[in-house]
Amino acid sequence: MPGRHFLQIPGPSNVPARVLRAMERPVINHRGIEFAELAKGLFPKLRQIFKTQHGTPIIFPSSGTGAWESSLVNTLSPGDRVLAFSIGEFSAGYARTARNNGFDVELVELEWGSTIPPELVEEKLKADTAHAYKAVLTIHNETSTGVTPDIGAVREAMDRARHPALLMVDTISGLASADFRFDEWKVDVAVACSQKGLMLPPGLSFLCVSEKALAAREKATTPRHYFDWAPMIARNAQGFFPYTPATNMLYALEESTDMLLEEGLEHVFARHGRMAEAVRRAVRAWGLKIVAHPGAESPVLTAVHLPEGVDGDQLLVVSETDFDLSLGNGLGPLARKAFRIGHLGDMNDLEVLATLAGCEMVLTRMGVKLDIGSGVATAQRFFLDNPLPKPSK
Ligand code: PLP
Repeated sequence: MPGRHFLQIPGPSNVPARVLRAMERPVINHRGIEFAELAKGLFPKLRQIFKTQHGTPIIFPSSGTGAWESSLVNTLSPGDRVLAFSIGEFSAGYARTARNNGFDVELVELEWGSTIPPELVEEKLKADTAHAYKAVLTIHNETSTGVTPDIGAVREAMDRARHPALLMVDTISGLASADFRFDEWKVDVAVACSQKGLMLPPGLSFLCVSEKALAAREKATTPRHYFDWAPMIARNAQGFFPYTPATNMLYALEESTDMLLEEGLEHVFARHGRMAEAVRRAVRAWGLKIVAHPGAESPVLTAVHLPEGVDGDQLLVVSETDFDLSLGNGLGPLARKAFRIGHLGDMNDLEVLATLAGCEMVLTRMGVKLDIGSGVATAQRFFLDNPLPKPSK
């Protein structure tokens, strides 16, 4: 089909032409000087993206699930007790990864659409007077519901409880779209990956680990090899990897981090917040309900409940085939009952409006009664009334 495909799922996100061009190079010797220069330049940029001076960023050639596993097997010993909060598909998936790796997971299951209440974290940790929990698993942006928990408040709750557990945060769909503060929130292990806010193709995962997490690794006895931090950090210090790295993805990472830092992280976050607000206003104008509870909504994506009788899977097929627009499906209990609009990464006002126009046409074709143009006009008005300041850099 001529024209561009609208990839509006909540990741993988659209890869900017600049990043694609950066990848289009001959593969170089991954044990040579040129490679070492490339690799060494990446870590200071990743530190800026994670907002850390003390944390150590790590890059793995894997999807985000690999980084989940890495966060656990490096810091915990078999049978260690872990407190996990589930507010949707991916926070539950993090907990499942822990259970499958042999850890004793206490899973607190909360309603889909809700956030992680800091007071509940505090209550659970205060009750654990023996300090049996070695880690608390949380999520910065729950991609199945479009909820962004307040990790700073979770950290304050842990501090109030004076609990020494490690704070592990999945920011796979949050990093570089929603404000993330590794040092300020005293995060011990952050888990991220390439195909969301970093505007890269799928294929790389990232961790950022605290000194406390590195110390925990020294004592942790879980078997690990591919995802072991120690050989990775030792080789990275020389500009190399313990095994063959994803060389051209690293060129892409160099370019995308440059783009984010040129725009300025605060501008990136403001742009995402503004796009998300426009989408939410449009959804309300259609008369549809947002999955995320008020106050917890994500700047990255919006999950939308479908009216009774409208099949979400069918909606996605119509959207792709008739309008060349990819939307996200409903997951778990929301399967076929909701759809998700991704508004992250390399995106601007007109792309938001085109996506909303596409949604209006798809919903109408699926029999949803709405005023064509109502969501688009609401978003247009919001954009006009709330101009985004120019990037400071
Ligand atoms: N965590 C979150 C929040 C996600 O959104 C995803 C994927 O979308 C994952 C974990 C799993 O990552 P991957 O599919 O790259 O393994």
